[in-house]
Amino acid sequence: MARIAVASFRHETNTFAPHKATMQDFETGYSWPSLVRGEEMPAAVKGFNLAISGFIETASAQGHEILPLLFASAAPSAEVTEDAYETIVAMLFEELAGVGDFDALYLALHGAMVAEHIEDGEGELLGRLRQKFGPNLPIVVTLDYHANMSQAALDFATAITGYRSYPHADMAETGSRMAQWLDMHLANGAVKTEASLRQIPFLIPLFAGCTMRQPASDVVAAVAAVEAETNVLLSFAGGFPAADILDCAPSVYGYGPSASDAVNRIADMVEALESTWGGDILTPEAAVSKAIKLSKGASRPIVLADIQDNPGAGGTGDTMGLIRAMLDAGVSGSAAGLVYDPHVATIALKAGEGAEIAVALGGKHGVAGDNPLAGQFKVIVASDGKMIGSGPLYKGARMDLSPAARLRIGGLDIVVIGKRVQAADQESFRHFGIEPAETKLLALKSSAHFRGHFQPIAEAVIDVVAPGAMSANPANLKFTKLRPGVKLSPAGAQIGS
Ligand SMILES: [Zn+2]
Repeated sequence: MARIAVASFRHETNTFAPHKATMQDFETGYSWPSLVRGEEMPAAVKGFNLAISGFIETASAQGHEILPLLFASAAPSAEVTEDAYETIVAMLFEELAGVGDFDALYLALHGAMVAEHIEDGEGELLGRLRQKFGPNLPIVVTLDYHANMSQAALDFATAITGYRSYPHADMAETGSRMAQWLDMHLANGAVKTEASLRQIPFLIPLFAGCTMRQPASDVVAAVAAVEAETNVLLSFAGGFPAADILDCAPSVYGYGPSASDAVNRIADMVEALESTWGGDILTPEAAVSKAIKLSKGASRPIVLADIQDNPGAGGTGDTMGLIRAMLDAGVSGSAAGLVYDPHVATIALKAGEGAEIAVALGGKHGVAGDNPLAGQFKVIVASDGKMIGSGPLYKGARMDLSPAARLRIGGLDIVVIGKRVQAADQESFRHFGIEPAETKLLALKSSAHFRGHFQPIAEAVIDVVAPGAMSANPANLKFTKLRPGVKLSPAGAQIGS
């Protein structure tokens, strides 16, 4: 039995987004728990589809003693402030100082964290831990599928593994896989193993990296197969393309004997598929017109994915381009969400159900091409916004989206919330009395996570490029710090129509 210290510190940083992650953003709960330290942490994350939850469950079942340190996560945004980064890292070291001797450290990180003063948030943290605890302490890490892996993170960690699903249906499973690896590693005398990393020389658009479509589905299947064959702990990261940093890139990394052979097999495959990392995307007007045609006679909804205003990737969650196009086209029996506007949600709560309110919805962050939607809205539901997710990503997540309301304008019902959370779970509509399967057109602010829960009930899915802080095509972003020679989008791939 080992004593294993566990912590989670997660942020996905879109350096092109308008708002930074402050201490308050880590202290506010949203789809994931608010900042929690020490003994209270395991209960706060229990039952969530989170890597730390899966790790704690499996490592406990193996008979290891868990020493809980902290859980800190903020919604994706621009850089983590220097204050928030240093405050949380200091808390982590304080907690570590208080748990006595331990045999191993497990960290559930993201892999794409950029702080105001540090480009490689994870590499820096792992380096400081290595310096403090020496070269022999097993430090094992799980990362998001959207990690921008650095050589520093690879080398300072004893081992790292990442999610293989985007929509991240496997976060808890990934934590569990790390626990199993660590258990074996400790049993084998904790001998340091070979590590290998290969960065891919082109960026992959976020929506095109979804593992429910090709080529990503083939790549993650190959990762599992090569891992089983070689015993190398192997990962493919699609990368997080909206980060102007040196290490912004998809990558393949692994730990184990002859790790570089396994890594090269997968990386060769990713590169050979270069021209297929794309997809068809439409303007709001073209998308709505197509959706209306498809919806005639259809018994299931046409899902319109507002892929550039994805709050799960640093989007503001409040742009109005797609919603405006739906209203201009005179849609009926349709729904949209989740619009981040705590101001309007508060007005709706005060006015109460059945009231008419004249407000300017969304458009409050100066996103290029966007402005608020002024109009008369009816408050259909006023809510505390507390719900439990049931889809692949948020299963078991105790979410707090308060303040929250369902507003109606024309033939469109809009879910308005007070936290930045992407529309990836049907419960975030059902909570407001909207049955997603019964809508005609359903607009979702999400790049790909929505597919896990909504694609199975959709007649068709259309990816839409409306104003938003998460550009569908990284080639539209003004990079200044990338490694020389990195292509901003895959050569030959269709991105648009
Ligand atoms: Zn991710």
